[in-house]
Amino acid sequence: MKTIVAIDGPAGAGKSTVAKKIAEKLGLIFMNTGSFYRGLTLMLLRDCGSDEAGYGGKKVNLEDRKGIIDFTETLSFEYSSDGLSINGENVEQYLRNDAVESIVSPVSAIPEVRRILNRKIRAVAEKTGVVCEGRDMTTVVFPDTPHKFYLDASVETRAMRRFTQGTSSLSLDEIRKSIEQRDNLDRNKEEGSLRISPDAFYLDSSGLTIDEVCDIMLAEILGKGIHNGAEGSGKGC
Ligand code: C5P
Repeated sequence: MKTIVAIDGPAGAGKSTVAKKIAEKLGLIFMNTGSFYRGLTLMLLRDCGSDEAGYGGKKVNLEDRKGIIDFTETLSFEYSSDGLSINGENVEQYLRNDAVESIVSPVSAIPEVRRILNRKIRAVAEKTGVVCEGRDMTTVVFPDTPHKFYLDASVETRAMRRFTQGTSSLSLDEIRKSIEQRDNLDRNKEEGSLRISPDAFYLDSSGLTIDEVCDIMLAEILGKGIHNGAEGSGKGC
């Protein structure tokens, strides 16, 4: 059985940065599962006539659930260390655009869409072993892995991190509001809502550096043991 490290938490808690470093240290693939939802959203925008980056075009009709579900089934997803490819095209460069950001949360709230994407996520992860992060990795997708984490941070810390990433044209205050809205949607989804698994290791990263967070998590993972990949020292990831 391959090692699966599952990390959940709200937007901007540092999950991707930490998961990437831990994956490197353990010799596993880093998988950002939000990318699957973002990639689907990009393709929906394109299907409505946007440019390749998701801008322009008509509004996506979020009421048309059946149309969105059928469309999701037609897409072929692949994931490697270079990130997400859909229908053979690597789409990583477009996934964090404001156009995608603005509707990814309602798209990801459709239960049937989640079931389709979860199937694809499991298929990739179980083949290679992964460090994956998302909203329901510990509660729905990989509830049986021993390596479960919930990474948290205050809204202020998360908004500042997104702002300094420089991928958004929004002001700090607008980013803060958008994060609060997303939190609300993520926690109140019909299925796959963001919640803390009772047996996940809870960590608030607000006052910690990335290296400190990684060290704590690696010690926890290696304490339980892993089945594949390079054994890490657990220090200075
Ligand atoms: O983590 P990231 O911000 O890239 O996620 C993009 C969106 O996808 C989030 O707004 C969240 O609603 C959704 N998501 C999800 N389930 C996951 C990962 C992300 O619903 N496993």
